[in-house]
Amino acid sequence: MEVLKHLLNKCSEVQLPVLNAQLNPNYNDIFKLVSLFDGSYNLAVKIEEVFVSHDCGIEFSNCVSLANQIWAMAYPNYPYKVAWHGSCQGYFEIWKELATNRFYLECDECSTQVDSPEDLNKHKASEYFYELSVYPTLEELEDIDWIKYIIKK
Ligand SMILES: [Zn+2]
Repeated sequence: MEVLKHLLNKCSEVQLPVLNAQLNPNYNDIFKLVSLFDGSYNLAVKIEEVFVSHDCGIEFSNCVSLANQIWAMAYPNYPYKVAWHGSCQGYFEIWKELATNRFYLECDECSTQVDSPEDLNKHKASEYFYELSVYPTLEELEDIDWIKYIIKK
């Protein structure tokens, strides 16, 4: 988990002790690390563990934000894209709200939120404002049957 500690030191204020201070994780290191975790929630749990093991108190919500940040480094072309947003040139991506476990779509450019792929077809934006969210797992996407909406590169 040295790579994770280095990334956390890069992304957060807290500085964790590392074995090799010279190590500078490259894209492959980051990708290898992130691919061990299915969804950013599981990565956030691991991050919390790392902080706790170093006696650093941290809010779980901060762990989620860090996990999403690190996840995005590994997947600059986020794997759960659903549709191109013509009016802003962004992509709608699938998210799961942490507090409610509700799935929705959000544009990575303009942050427009939509409740479902069906609503996206109707150009209907959400009336609800989704807050802190995680990248879901593939299993969750299978369960809600949204896998079929994902655009393959
Ligand atoms: Zn947009």
